[in-house]
Amino acid sequence: MMTPRCLVRGSLNNDEYLHVKNLVRAGQTIFSTKYERRAGGKGANQAVAIAKAGGHVDLLGAVGEDGIWLIQYLQAIGVNTDNVSVVETHTGRAMIQVADDGENSIILYPGANFYSLPLPRALDARYTHLLLQNEVLFSSTQTYLRLSKSSNPPIVSIFNPSPMPSKEQIAHIPWISLDWLIVNQGEATTLCEIFTEESILEDTPIPEIITKLCNSPGFYRSTNIICTLGAKGVFARTPHGTIALPAASLQGPVIDTTGAGDCFTGFFVAGLMEHSVSKASTTLSLPELEAILRTSVEASAICVQRRGTIESIPTRNELPQ
Ligand code: ADP
Repeated sequence: MMTPRCLVRGSLNNDEYLHVKNLVRAGQTIFSTKYERRAGGKGANQAVAIAKAGGHVDLLGAVGEDGIWLIQYLQAIGVNTDNVSVVETHTGRAMIQVADDGENSIILYPGANFYSLPLPRALDARYTHLLLQNEVLFSSTQTYLRLSKSSNPPIVSIFNPSPMPSKEQIAHIPWISLDWLIVNQGEATTLCEIFTEESILEDTPIPEIITKLCNSPGFYRSTNIICTLGAKGVFARTPHGTIALPAASLQGPVIDTTGAGDCFTGFFVAGLMEHSVSKASTTLSLPELEAILRTSVEASAICVQRRGTIESIPTRNELPQ
């Protein structure tokens, strides 16, 4: 039996927080009261969550010289960064203004995340799982997804389409290669609208949206769907049935929900890896899936009660045993 190992092909960012009294308006120049630089990028966040959940994980991506600290930071947390290249451009960057009332505005600069790294002909045979988001070049995401199924045995593929790809890109995703789609409620609604070419009414229940999405032409019906619902928990649909799980109960107030979805995704993938379902993902039973979802909602509930993104992701042993 192979030791489960996940490849995350994704983004790394310098997240720069500028604290301001009010968000800057067009034409205005204002002082920031506090500056912080933190590690970010969905690829990095989700890779850290897998590592903290106890999984073996390699991150494949790129930074500029100004991101070498990120490589060291991630390596220290337990993410293998041997496949993170240092390229001749700036590291991806998120410029985040945070106002005193909690309101924020973000500018994303893709930088090295959109650098064209050489594409492989095949994925390394050590990988059992592949996790993708949408913060790197779309052509790379497409290729890796395709390659996951030309591996022998096939690699379990998980895709979190965030930020949402364009309509055109969605039409070019090799859906047949995808085992697990992870979306939040907004992403599920947008995907459903794109596939069905219908608009979805605001209060449409999520199981209805997911069923519509599954039944729409162009979507591969055997793909398992996990839809996170913020404080309402999660809804999952597999060809064997559905599961609705409430969010885990909180010990204290919600402090910061950024990164909750990435924490959920990382713990979910680590759960799949633990169950060693790489040879036959469809054999994961509903009770096994429910156990993985339960761990994932527990981890993300801890995450929302702490400040930060990567910093707020708990380790496996912080979860209720
Ligand atoms: P995203 O950050 O991608 O939009 P969600 O907001 O759906 O993702 O959150 C992901 C998961 O985090 C949820 O499924 C839930 O388990 C947990 N979560 C988010 N917000 C809360 C909350 N207020 N209370 C408890 N758990 C939460």
